[in-house]
Amino acid sequence: MNDWDSDERTALRASVRRFTEAEIVPRLADWEESGALPRELHRKAAAADLLGVGFPEEAGGAGGTSVDSLVVTEEIIRSGGSSGLVAGLFTHGIGLPHLVEAGDPALIDKVAEPVLAGEKIISLAITEPDTGSDVAGITTRAVRDGDEYVVNGAKLYITSATRADFFTVAVRTGGEGARGISLLLLERGMPRLTVSAPLKKMGWLCSDTAGLTFDDVRVPAAHLIGEENSGFYAIMGQFAAERLSLAVQAYATAQRCLDLTLEWIKQRHTFGRPLADRQVVRHRVAEMARQTDVARRYTRAVVDDWQAGRNVLAEVAMAKNTAVAACDFVVDAAVQLHGGLGYMRETEVERHYRDSRILGIGGGTNEIMTEIVAKLLIT
Ligand SMILES: Cc1cc2nc3c(=O)[nH]c(=O)nc-3n(C[C@H](O)[C@H](O)[C@H](O)COP(=O)(O)OP(=O)(O)OC[C@H]3O[C@@H](n4cnc5c(N)ncnc54)[C@H](O)[C@@H]3O)c2cc1C
Repeated sequence: MNDWDSDERTALRASVRRFTEAEIVPRLADWEESGALPRELHRKAAAADLLGVGFPEEAGGAGGTSVDSLVVTEEIIRSGGSSGLVAGLFTHGIGLPHLVEAGDPALIDKVAEPVLAGEKIISLAITEPDTGSDVAGITTRAVRDGDEYVVNGAKLYITSATRADFFTVAVRTGGEGARGISLLLLERGMPRLTVSAPLKKMGWLCSDTAGLTFDDVRVPAAHLIGEENSGFYAIMGQFAAERLSLAVQAYATAQRCLDLTLEWIKQRHTFGRPLADRQVVRHRVAEMARQTDVARRYTRAVVDDWQAGRNVLAEVAMAKNTAVAACDFVVDAAVQLHGGLGYMRETEVERHYRDSRILGIGGGTNEIMTEIVAKLLIT
């Protein structure tokens, strides 16, 4: 069992909280307006030893385990950050692990070290205009030509793409289906690689999102990450980490909205009494707390099993859906209990309400999570 509140992790939480309160909370509203995070924030997060948590020191990381990086996520959101902030600041959490795992020293020097130092930004580009859930159906093609690949196709909804220096891109190098997919590292500035204008979204406004197009982009063959045609399995291998991170974002958002609502119902009076005196309100927040706690305990238990090396394919999917459902319930109740104020842009719960809508879509939708569970149940 991992101790999520060991002395070391309590110290990590305190340092995340200090960083969030000093560097994130005062500026988050501006970044939501401008539509992206400043690069300076990446440097500051690296200097505070937060950006590299969970990545090995040999690759330029700060060491620690996946649990430590989930603790960072929990604490940023609990201290007034947001899931959108986590998505934009820690995009390397989904963009870099394949490269670090494949272990190519030259590429790690070139890419992982500057990314973990906060100097460069990396995105993960899998989704395409015609395929998202069906990863095995991607059609962006990379054809070997001497010591290069020539890449043609398009990607859509790519987090941090307008700022990224590097892109880990899923491409088709072989035949149809899962066995024909590879991962290639592309760089901003490669001729005929185009990044679209930022896409306008419902939430995650501080996290930029864009499309990519590849029109005969020539990429050195040395930029292949892992073995040719092994990309699908590398992607699936990393999905557990991404899905558990999204589950943590969901229950942490729920906890934050519960905390904000508990403060609010004590101070807001209607008909001469605080909202907190009304049984219907008290029971509503009790239910918010129940769902949040169940989501946290279940997700953490699945993380512990995953870290112990157990096969948790179904449990990861169930954790994501459990935490997302809890979050959906809690953010909705938080807005409702804040009344008109809950609908205003100035209110934190309003932002969480919009931000959390993506959690049941990104990293595998609710329906795809359910299908994974069903497939494993009904063999
Ligand atoms: C803000 C944002 C950031 C993102 N960041 C990234 C990123 O950094 N990198 C990246 O590669 N992608 C990213 N994505 C893409 C995201 O992963 C996809 O949107 C998601 O996987 C769903 O794919 P899709 O949009 O093509 O939906 P579709 O696959 O077209 O699904 C549409 C609907 O049909 C349902 N559905 C699909 N198949 C089935 C089935 N077999 N049975 C039942 N229902 C089904 C889905 O659950 C969904 O409800 C991002 C998306 C957003 C909105």
